[in-house]
Amino acid sequence: MDHLQSPPSPQNLIHVFYHEGILAHNAGTGVFDSGFDPGFLEVLDGHPENSDRVRNMVSILRRGPVKDYIKWHGGRRAEISELLSFHTPEYIEELVQANRSRGKEICAGTFLNPGSWDACLLAAGTTLLAMKHILDQHAKLSYALVRPPGHHAQPSQADGYCFLNNAGLAIQLALDSGCKRVAAVDIDVHYGNGTAEGFYRSNNVLTISLHMSHGSWGPSHPQNGTIDEVGEGDGFGYNLNVPLPNGTGDEGYVYAMNRLVVPALRKFEPEVIVLVAGQDSSAFDPNGRQCLTMTGYHKIGQIIRTLADLYSNGRLLVVQEGGYHVTYAAYCLHATLEGVLDLQDRLLSDPIAYYPEDKGYSIKVIDAIEKYWRDSIPFLKEL
Ligand SMILES: [Zn+2]
Repeated sequence: MDHLQSPPSPQNLIHVFYHEGILAHNAGTGVFDSGFDPGFLEVLDGHPENSDRVRNMVSILRRGPVKDYIKWHGGRRAEISELLSFHTPEYIEELVQANRSRGKEICAGTFLNPGSWDACLLAAGTTLLAMKHILDQHAKLSYALVRPPGHHAQPSQADGYCFLNNAGLAIQLALDSGCKRVAAVDIDVHYGNGTAEGFYRSNNVLTISLHMSHGSWGPSHPQNGTIDEVGEGDGFGYNLNVPLPNGTGDEGYVYAMNRLVVPALRKFEPEVIVLVAGQDSSAFDPNGRQCLTMTGYHKIGQIIRTLADLYSNGRLLVVQEGGYHVTYAAYCLHATLEGVLDLQDRLLSDPIAYYPEDKGYSIKVIDAIEKYWRDSIPFLKEL
């Protein structure tokens, strides 16, 4: 169906920012993500947040059918001073010291090993470059292909494989460059608690997170991701959580996007949109309990692109987060970017044959969240 697509044009390219130094972060082996060897297993897992997953993301974008729509750029390290726009000096010092002492498990499953800190700085700096490319009007669509992920990293706390909040730093850069309203839509299967925490008292940043209902998972992640965590002070109403029932699939996610995310962004009118993208909401992810397929990721990408064209003059930054199935995460990324490019006919078909979805319960929950927003969120009263 290639002949039906418009050919790539300078207006419809994704500018991908990537530095291979991020592959040096190695979180080790163990029972899944624990780093623990019980002594009675013949074969241990590589940590799920490993370089193989990103190698496949890079190669599918270089060699898959979307390759003609991509312009590649390098990355750079963030300066320590840049990190302080989102993180506290004490926390950054803790990470610097952990790096000097040749590594440490900073919190559960989150290992800063030799090579990790350099990868963190590259991930943060490369995401800043991708945002700056948009702010400087060199492009409308940018994608930061980075790891370690960032959206659980709070101003003073590492969490969930994340050390530095790459998306949060990019959002702060947009604010510091004069943007008054930035929206972050987080579709990683886990609550984007770090980004939420960073902007919890701000009405300049609307954070919306669609995630499985996982609640707090320990001292590094005290937030619950429930609908009543809505922000504080000036930020009251500007953190919107969409905890979707476990098992939600393509139709449930698209319903949530159309019923909840689209009206909220229409009211908020962001100047830049950040899609915080994790493929761990896919049906096969070892870390997630949701059932998205390539079809769902494609539709989410299209909806976000439409919102960017309507409200933010097309300005959209995509930031890579989780996604731990070594092959299927790459396919889902490809589908997401096809959607962001607003390609009507799919370039790449789904390699996996069968996915059940029972959407009834998801839709009831989404309708209840919509009612809660109308009753409780001042700027959405007339949703
Ligand atoms: Zn995740």
